[in-house]
Amino acid sequence: MKELFWYTTHMDRMAFDTPIGEVWGVGEQYVKKLEKLNIRTVRDLVYHKPSRYEDWSMISPTTAVQAGEKVTVVGKIVSITPVRTKYGKQMQIARLMDEGGEIQLVWFNQRYLLAAIQVGSWYSVSGKADVFNGQLSLMSPEFENLRTPPYPYSKKGGKLYTIHTGRLVPVYPETYGVSSKWLRSRIKVVLEQALPTEDWIEQYKNSGAQVLQELQNFLDIATALYQIHFPDSMEMAEKAQKRLARDELLVLHLENLARRADWKNNKVAVKVSVQKSVVKSFISSLPFKLTRAQERAVDEILIDLGKDKPMNRLLEGDVGSGKTVVAAAAALAAVNSGVQVAVMAPTEILAQQHFETLRELLKSCEGFNIVLQTGRKKFVKKGKDEPFDVIVGTHALLSDVVNFDNLGLVIIDEQHRFGVEQRAKLVNKPPGDFSRNRSSHVRNDISTAPHLLTMTATPIPRTVALTLYGDLDLSVLDEMPAGRKPVKTWLVPNHKRSGAYNWIREQITSFGTFIRLTGQKTEDRIQKTETNKIKTGNSKLETRNQVFVVCPFIEPSESMTTVKAARDEFEKLQKIFADFNLDLLHGRLKGKEKDEVIEKFRNGKTDILVSTPVVEVGVDIPQASIMLIEAAERFGLAQLHQLRGRVGRGGQQAYCLLFSESDSPQTKKRLKAMEDINSGLKLAELDMKMRGPGQIYGISQHGFMDLKFADYSDSELIQETKKLAEEVFPRLSEIPDLKKRLEAGIIREVAPN
Ligand code: ADP
Ligand code: MG
Repeated sequence: MKELFWYTTHMDRMAFDTPIGEVWGVGEQYVKKLEKLNIRTVRDLVYHKPSRYEDWSMISPTTAVQAGEKVTVVGKIVSITPVRTKYGKQMQIARLMDEGGEIQLVWFNQRYLLAAIQVGSWYSVSGKADVFNGQLSLMSPEFENLRTPPYPYSKKGGKLYTIHTGRLVPVYPETYGVSSKWLRSRIKVVLEQALPTEDWIEQYKNSGAQVLQELQNFLDIATALYQIHFPDSMEMAEKAQKRLARDELLVLHLENLARRADWKNNKVAVKVSVQKSVVKSFISSLPFKLTRAQERAVDEILIDLGKDKPMNRLLEGDVGSGKTVVAAAAALAAVNSGVQVAVMAPTEILAQQHFETLRELLKSCEGFNIVLQTGRKKFVKKGKDEPFDVIVGTHALLSDVVNFDNLGLVIIDEQHRFGVEQRAKLVNKPPGDFSRNRSSHVRNDISTAPHLLTMTATPIPRTVALTLYGDLDLSVLDEMPAGRKPVKTWLVPNHKRSGAYNWIREQITSFGTFIRLTGQKTEDRIQKTETNKIKTGNSKLETRNQVFVVCPFIEPSESMTTVKAARDEFEKLQKIFADFNLDLLHGRLKGKEKDEVIEKFRNGKTDILVSTPVVEVGVDIPQASIMLIEAAERFGLAQLHQLRGRVGRGGQQAYCLLFSESDSPQTKKRLKAMEDINSGLKLAELDMKMRGPGQIYGISQHGFMDLKFADYSDSELIQETKKLAEEVFPRLSEIPDLKKRLEAGIIREVAPN
């Protein structure tokens, strides 16, 4: 650290919040490029993590260099000349001399070096040694000008303060035209001027608290930030990484604690008095028995609704685990006590579906006014004030047109598909508008909040839930309704593609009988009849098997490229399945066209529905039995699991065929897991181990945060930092370093994640 102190005492200090454009040598062009790497301030640059280190730490006299070695030499450049090869390629060949001898340096097509390298200056040069044109040479080496003659490499204790050569050299993810070399130089500049002088560990120790033993052994923050970029050894790099990982998790936990405290302390729930008997009789009126998991979730929700602190609960369960009924029970309890309920879904189709399901489920509750509000179907129109109890809709619910008399419960489905701001907007709508609130003449206290139930089919591993969703209460539907058969899944090798198409053809033409689930007891569900005879009954439905084809995932948004890929696939399949009815569904279709496509599929008029990956995870089409997924390797396992959850909803045996464009054994192994594992949570955890946490959400990454230094699978550190956060939280005022970081982090509205 000696070198550091030298710099920090001799230069003006630079605040972490300094815009990156003010750093020496960062021009406008680079400001734009860095923005793409999410680097906007000095802090962002200091926290930009190397992806690996190149080991150039072996420093050798030129005479001792051997072919094959990765080595650094130090000496004077005596010449550099351009050379043209037989094949017309440009080479730049330099000679470096040290005490004992000379070595040749060879570059290809780097003409700028002829001017950049100063003959007669001292350089440190790192590269791989090889014999070139009969001479021992360093091939395409890294180099840096030492400006002043360094200590001789041989002198004990002599040390070169280099950053690109002669040491462990950081390599950064290179994107958007920002090279590692450039980043290294800038980071070095910034580290010299901006390393923090405050350290929460120090402050915590001084606060008089009983300090955990583990904290004693940690690097101080300034050392950690320096060593993560320019480590003295791999061991130091690891220590630095550990320190930064701990800080990262700690701040996340603290943010959660702060949000939870704000939610619980500063908000008063809209009063809901739960009548358990009403909910009970609703549940016993259902055509099926609730799973134990569903019962538990309903209980947990009802308890929350009865409290005067607003509920903030996440209901998590695989596709098909029956979240809607649980939501319906919650809605019933709320409406029954006289408050309004808003149900928000990410797409029109899902909103429409929820609207119909809720109306069906709650039809025995007379006097309930359930309405739909989407972009195209607007129950609430400007200037018209119709009363309602439950309003189901899309983002359209956020419009100022929609006012509530007494909003008591907000339910958000597929919550991660909404931005944090959108969710916050609905929750923060005044639960009763002054001008329209009949019962009071004072505007409702602004801190009154409705209860909030968010739902997701995305399996969230426990460690992730602890860090990311630590401010929420969690109900998990970890049990599927009885009689649900796992979707039989195969990873199909490419040479069997046409065989698979033939098999699909046979499946489509063999009839099956299914029953619509709503309105029928589970035991009544019939599978495909052996005789292929068609039984018709009230809500029994005879139909051909139907197929979903999911196109390769190209971009996270429903861009034109994505749509084009789907259209190409559609046209290709139209030729292959010429005698069948095919249709195409993508997000760029107009709402009405989309409805028609779905309706035709629902009514069995379409055999094969080709769709983009982004389309409608929750769509409920009972008779769809086969799901074919192209370029499956581009999806996360949990996501594939969600996709296949769309088939077999009528209780029949369903199938999922996975195609992959990758031959990598690792990828195959990953996808093969889909054949054996049928739990979304297990798949998510496996994927997290194999590919890292960003993959859990795959295409729907809203609200998911990648950790930089820590790892979601490091449950030990996650637990430990959580404990620490709980200890530290009440004494934050004595630990200003953490307090400041926390305040910087909570730019987001106090909102459920
Ligand atoms: P998701 O959790 O994916 O939203 P849904 O709520 O759409 O699942 O439920 C899927 C299907 O399972 C629906 O048709 C629903 O009626 C049915 N279902 C829900 N709970 C049960 C249960 N306990 N027993 C049998 N069927 C159920
Ligand atoms: Mg659902």
